[in-house]
Amino acid sequence: MSSSRVLVLNSGSSSVKYQLLDMSDSSRLAVGLVERIGEETSRLRHTPLATGASREWTGPIADHEAALKAVAEELAKDGLGLDSPELAAIGHRVVHGGKHFTEPTVIDDAVLAEIERLIPVAPLHNPANLTGIRTARHLRPDLPQVAVFDTAFHTTMPESAARYAIDTETADAHRIRRYGFHGTSHAYVSRAAAELLGRAPEEVNVIVLHLGNGASASAVRGGKCVDTSMGLTPLEGLVMGTRSGDLDPAVIFHLARVGGMSIDEIDTLLNKKSGLIGLCGDNDMREIRRRIDDGDERAQLAFDIYIHRLKKYIGAYYAVLGRVDAVVFTAGVGENAAPVREAAVAGLEGLGLAVDGALNAARSDEPRLVSPEYARVKVAVVPTDEELEIATQTYALVGRH
Ligand code: AMP
Repeated sequence: MSSSRVLVLNSGSSSVKYQLLDMSDSSRLAVGLVERIGEETSRLRHTPLATGASREWTGPIADHEAALKAVAEELAKDGLGLDSPELAAIGHRVVHGGKHFTEPTVIDDAVLAEIERLIPVAPLHNPANLTGIRTARHLRPDLPQVAVFDTAFHTTMPESAARYAIDTETADAHRIRRYGFHGTSHAYVSRAAAELLGRAPEEVNVIVLHLGNGASASAVRGGKCVDTSMGLTPLEGLVMGTRSGDLDPAVIFHLARVGGMSIDEIDTLLNKKSGLIGLCGDNDMREIRRRIDDGDERAQLAFDIYIHRLKKYIGAYYAVLGRVDAVVFTAGVGENAAPVREAAVAGLEGLGLAVDGALNAARSDEPRLVSPEYARVKVAVVPTDEELEIATQTYALVGRH
């Protein structure tokens, strides 16, 4: 029997998201989510795609091991159990791979140790990813498990883009550099954009704008990332749902010295209470647009700040690339918010950029161009699919045909 199934696991501190894919045709067999792990009211939601009928279960799930066992039981009910010979591998999303992991990697003890060594630069994410990996290895020790890193796509950045202008010895001692995140999305979307343009990825230069609750931009030359907006952590760059993005680092000294805030309080302020939610009290772009339509000035200002930053990055990456074939929007906001796309590109006709009102407003789940025929630089919308990218990379590494 051919083994063509890949289970993709995205393990957070109190959640596990999963998808089971059949890589013979890249179809999804099941998707699901376990939330609030460790609480009395943990919740599992499982959907087998054959019927589309979701099953939900609420109750205590003590830890990741119990969560994955519950997932395995649900999959087994649909004849998709983890013990099936058709399961070829498990692909794990790992947020931080540092400089070392430039590609998806089959997990062994040395790889686990290296991911663990990176915890100081990814204290929120890597421990949860590691727990997911250890649990999955425990359940299926014989099965290849692959780590797909959010940072890997950005390891092609030249040193001139990756280094901060701080003392080199201090930076190296603490592994401080710009790593970038959302890499699987930037990789998938930049490749799909080349396909949409009918050209090979090696031939095209694109700016990818991944605008979800977290948001990042990347400059991709000939299929390789040459710059990206997130840095040591996912805090740098664009205005996000709850994160500030770029700011003068002296704001932090000021908040500590003059505002009397602790480092942890400032961390929470910049990561959780800033960005759109800090500016106007909402982080959902739908709600912000609704408030703008009602004449709400705070929502309008938040939107304007968001767009201003986005425009600065489009201009900066245009300059970094020299020649741009397409600007590509993706993720929750990028795929759905036509006003964001329109405003981000407005006034950039001199750079060859424009959107067509009707094309931009039309709703679709397909990759599409929203620029007019005459635009020198195309504007595209490409729905991202990080799970498919993780499964594809995993299968390419270990799949048996
Ligand atoms: P993501 O992190 O990619 O799942 O994106 C989540 C964000 O996408 C939400 O916080 C919303 O701001 C945004 N979003 C989702 N659907 C829409 C929509 N129809 N219009 C505008 N924004 C949307």
